[in-house]
Amino acid sequence: MPADQGSTFDNAAYIAERSAAAGAWSRSGGRCERCSRQVVWHNRGRALGRGAWSLLALPGAGAVRHVVMCAGCAAREQSRGG
Ligand SMILES: [Zn+2]
Repeated sequence: MPADQGSTFDNAAYIAERSAAAGAWSRSGGRCERCSRQVVWHNRGRALGRGAWSLLALPGAGAVRHVVMCAGCAAREQSRGG
């Protein structure tokens, strides 16, 4: 049983985000979905370095679509129209 009862909401958000990341990751086969560069699971959220990548939520048909993008593609995607 979890000892910390004060962070249920945070945990739910964390679990949802992590599950989206895991789903996108397994679908992409551990590669950037834009340029097919190989990325490293542990380097998620990094902006620089080999294997760095981000989970991006893109607007899709009816629901957001989570995609794996290497740091370079993620930066291009986020700078677009911002
Ligand atoms: Zn890429």
